[in-house]
Amino acid sequence: MPSGSSTPGSDSKRQRVLPVPKTVAGLRTFEPDSSIVSDIIPSPNHGERTKGRQPDMIVLHYTGMPDVEGALARLCTAGTEVSAHYVVLEDGRIVQCVPESKRAWHAGVSSWAGEDDINSCSIGIEIINRGHDWGYPEFPLRQIAAVIALCRGIMLRRKVPAHRVLGHSDVAPARKKDPGEKFPWHSLANSGVGHWVTPAPIVRGDSLLLGTISDAVLSMQQALARYGYGVPLNGKYDAATMEVVTAFQRHFRPARLDGIADHSTLSTLQALLASLPADATK
Ligand SMILES: [Zn+2]
Repeated sequence: MPSGSSTPGSDSKRQRVLPVPKTVAGLRTFEPDSSIVSDIIPSPNHGERTKGRQPDMIVLHYTGMPDVEGALARLCTAGTEVSAHYVVLEDGRIVQCVPESKRAWHAGVSSWAGEDDINSCSIGIEIINRGHDWGYPEFPLRQIAAVIALCRGIMLRRKVPAHRVLGHSDVAPARKKDPGEKFPWHSLANSGVGHWVTPAPIVRGDSLLLGTISDAVLSMQQALARYGYGVPLNGKYDAATMEVVTAFQRHFRPARLDGIADHSTLSTLQALLASLPADATK
């Protein structure tokens, strides 16, 4: 029999105290941009958006650190040079660290659809998750529900199209894996957040892979670039191309991450492009 002190549900009622980093003392607070923000922890790590560029893109991250305390301290302490507009905790609470009007420093060296100052054109959301280096746990449902609600609000207010809700690994495939292959992009898409199609089944057959030089490689690179990926257009399946294919798989065909453009990968890419709205690509 369970003892009285551990009645079911008691944990969910008890709100953990938010570990506010000491370094934010004295920083000016601000009004949240979203009504579902529960706390403001101001980060000094931000600047102005270049040339007044308004955000029309959302980039999702995981924090990749062992605990919430460390993640919030890193994002909100001067000198680390990193931040995000929002942090979504595992229990679904949403913390805002940088006003949406400002340029948070979350994407680093990255590119999408011909732009390389991704911080100037995006809203960055950090999702608390230990990431690949620390066991990579599943994302709790209530955390995903909060991410969906937050993104839907931003998409409405900022007119962000679904296909411009992306992962850090999409815009920085050579450097980043987050939010990773366990991130439930299909659940987000079911709620209108992000563009997604059911991945084509994995079947036996010919593949393009590292070292291949052909017109087929060039057309695959062109298709990836049309979607938005920063990929070489040289007809060579080089290391950079393989990294982009892996990033594509992590987001859109997570059942196998091998950087090999098999039939399933190429069909999924074609289906994604075919289902984009007509004005979505250049
Ligand atoms: Zn990231």
